[in-house]
Amino acid sequence: MELFDLTIHELHAKLKTKEISSVEATKACLQRIEATDERVNAFITVTADSALQAAAAADSRIARGEMDLLTGIPLALKDIFLTKGIRTTCASKILADFTPPYDATSWGRLQQRGAVLLGKLNQDEFAMGSSCESSAFGATRNPWNLECIPGGSSGGSAAAIAAQQAIATLGTDTGGSIRQPASHCGCVGLKPTYGRVSRYGVIAYASSLDQVGPMTRDVRDAAIMLGAIAGHDPLDSTSVDCAVPDYTAGLQGDLKGVKIGLPKEYYIDGLDPDVKSAMDRAIATYRALGAEFVDISLPNTDYAVACYYLIATAEASSNLARYDGVRFGHRAADAKSLAEMYRQTRAEGFGTEVKRRIMIGTYALSSGYYDAYYIKAQKVRTLIMQDFLKAFESVDVILTPVAPTPAFKVGEKTADPLQMYLSDIFTIPVNLAGTCAMSIPAGSSAAGLPIGLQLIGKPFGEAEIIRAAYAFEQATEWHRQKAQL
Ligand code: GLN
Repeated sequence: MELFDLTIHELHAKLKTKEISSVEATKACLQRIEATDERVNAFITVTADSALQAAAAADSRIARGEMDLLTGIPLALKDIFLTKGIRTTCASKILADFTPPYDATSWGRLQQRGAVLLGKLNQDEFAMGSSCESSAFGATRNPWNLECIPGGSSGGSAAAIAAQQAIATLGTDTGGSIRQPASHCGCVGLKPTYGRVSRYGVIAYASSLDQVGPMTRDVRDAAIMLGAIAGHDPLDSTSVDCAVPDYTAGLQGDLKGVKIGLPKEYYIDGLDPDVKSAMDRAIATYRALGAEFVDISLPNTDYAVACYYLIATAEASSNLARYDGVRFGHRAADAKSLAEMYRQTRAEGFGTEVKRRIMIGTYALSSGYYDAYYIKAQKVRTLIMQDFLKAFESVDVILTPVAPTPAFKVGEKTADPLQMYLSDIFTIPVNLAGTCAMSIPAGSSAAGLPIGLQLIGKPFGEAEIIRAAYAFEQATEWHRQKAQL
């Protein structure tokens, strides 16, 4: 096994016995990025020099015996996380030259433990998209098939793992942006409960939905990463002050007595046959592991996409108002008045999808339409939340597909935004409900593309979905499959 292809826990074991150093592991990743990223385009910025310095510092820390599970591990971050002194673009032209003066809390916590930053990863512009095609820095390609999209918006975060460029990454998930690319690239992606992880220093898209989470090669790594980034942060008032359990404690195979819900609204006729058979096989595997299945209903599922595209765009229109050319980011040259400067800056700086969302959101919030759209969407959101709470009265976890199809072709859905929006139908309800979910590898399509399954948990029930995910992983080989680049 190559150094760049290890999991966090495997690499940790080798660092601990000093079989290899962090500098060696970091160099291996950097060389792999060099060799593959022209084709994949997972990185917007590679921080080779500072990575090697951080790795050397980690090696001295290891030599002093001050080692943590994450010390010396080469990681990469979606370019939505602020990194002090390192350009952070959110894949937008408007922030193409923006260098933040401080670090996101989640990255700060990993850094404190001695993790090494390889660079910043590509994504859809401002995390708006499902394919990583709306980046101002060019589309990211799926390492399993370079003609396909890696998923989005955290497409670079998933592709970097599948292309064996980084050991693990962080992404963000507002409507599926961790889980859907994880599914399309054959890795593990965990979206924690709203409030579980601080969003301080994460560029805001839709603040009532955004959440930070890990993308990894296996379930144990996801548990390790979540444990490192979770917990209250006084700098994010939405982060919840409740104890962080040891997420690795429940990693054991048995699922006797665990009740798994199958929502009838998710097993629909339009489901791709490869996805359907992966789900059927997963259900059989879980049954063999001792889980019990319960048919459930989440009756308001049909309204989730519409509801999301009102709430997310409304919040985005407000969050993105700050990019006006005044304090930071791109500023249009030669504007004759302040109003013209605002207009030109935003016209030049934002891409088509971002403009579309700002317009939808502004419309939904405008007087006369506010009650009919925004307030109505908030009420529907409550109903969707109640659907989940009711379902969780009779089940421990919910099992669904992550996406209705495996990764689609680059360019296939760019002309029709609605088709793109509909590809998030199974992930969006979880964000509206504010609860946690993860995607783990569970199959392969006839064309050889990975297919993930989604485990949805109760609010703050991350340990339960991690346990269910781990049991499945132990019983199957899907997570061992590799993209051939
Ligand atoms: N694809 C969804 C959107 O475009 C979700 C994106 C995300 O989770 N950031 O909004």
